[in-house]
Amino acid sequence: MKNLKNKTIPYGRQNITDEDINAVVEILKSDYLTQGLKIQEFENAFANYVGSQYAVAVSNGTATLHLNSIALGVKPGDKVITTPITFVASANCVRYCGGEIIFADIDPKTYLLDINAVRKILEADTKKEIKGIIPVDFAGRAVDLEAFRQLADEFDCWIIEDSCHSRGGFFIDSQGEKQHCGNGKFADLAIFSFHPVKHIATGEGGMITTNNEDLYKHLINLRTHGIQQDFSKRIFDDSLWYYEMQELGYNYRLTDIQSALGYSQLKRADQGLAKRRELAKTYQKAFINKTYIKGQSGVVEGHAYHLYIIEVEKRKELHKYLRDQNIFAQIHYIPCHLMPYYRDLGWSEGDLPMAENYYKHCISLPMFPTLTTEEQTFVIETIESFFK
Ligand SMILES: *Cc1c(COP(=O)(O)O)cnc(C)c1O
Repeated sequence: MKNLKNKTIPYGRQNITDEDINAVVEILKSDYLTQGLKIQEFENAFANYVGSQYAVAVSNGTATLHLNSIALGVKPGDKVITTPITFVASANCVRYCGGEIIFADIDPKTYLLDINAVRKILEADTKKEIKGIIPVDFAGRAVDLEAFRQLADEFDCWIIEDSCHSRGGFFIDSQGEKQHCGNGKFADLAIFSFHPVKHIATGEGGMITTNNEDLYKHLINLRTHGIQQDFSKRIFDDSLWYYEMQELGYNYRLTDIQSALGYSQLKRADQGLAKRRELAKTYQKAFINKTYIKGQSGVVEGHAYHLYIIEVEKRKELHKYLRDQNIFAQIHYIPCHLMPYYRDLGWSEGDLPMAENYYKHCISLPMFPTLTTEEQTFVIETIESFFK
């Protein structure tokens, strides 16, 4: 086994090229560091990429979720369903608006929100308190949103697709058509994050996509203090200096500096995605017949491979063993309902057995476009040597 010991291998890493750097420098030399033209250019390119009509660039992924909860009218007493196997932000956004989160269990084969579990919860909701569903394209695997849309319509719920892991991912619908994550066909709103471990890095950053014009216009105002951005919609005045705050909003803008970086990254995002899919194939091939593997991400059409996950026994020991070889594997995620904050709200161990069992065994292996063949081979061989 080749020794790469003095080089750390993280589970994810951004890829910044000279072209990206030049794009940022250009903005730094320009008149507008924020609220310039680059934001809209990035939004248009992003909407075009995912196939949605509208896109709203926002300061980070969590802020996109917060604005979505406001735009969809979440208020105290409302309930919203999501998966426990996600980053806590997917659930927290409902709490920001005083709503209640109901975690539904996952399907152990896909690691995604189990639609049958969601249906059961909706059927038991005789008081009709549940207003929405937040499915997550976890690890980069696209949720079957066509099925979720049918269910949501049956119970009069909205859908926010948390696509933070799945830029470029898709599922195949009942007509055999590719439906790209965030294309707005089934979900009311979809969200993306540009945190450096995700597919596109802007430092901090996020994007909302939608096909709903009313929601789009509302989000544009909410992002900038609730100040009406459409001059023709002003109520009291039409002077050039005049601006009008019509509701309580925030400063959740993305800067032009970040937008330039995101726009530049988006241009070669498909290359990165192809590389991730290649790495996934190599992992799958290496582990497919190994008895120590209890489950793995596998090779699934449309998977965007933000993460490559395997399930093993002795996960904690393997994690430590890899760490000793400078391989920084990660665990995604500690189930949200087991966080002290959500335990205080009444959740406890045993509530969601599939998610909890998954958490005992899962480990995310290094997965990013610049991972070299040599590094991936070292990761695979180190795992093999642990189980020998
Ligand atoms: C990263 C992430 C978020 C939050 O995005 P930030 O940009 O870090 O605020 C939300 N949901 C999921 C599934 C994520 O992975």
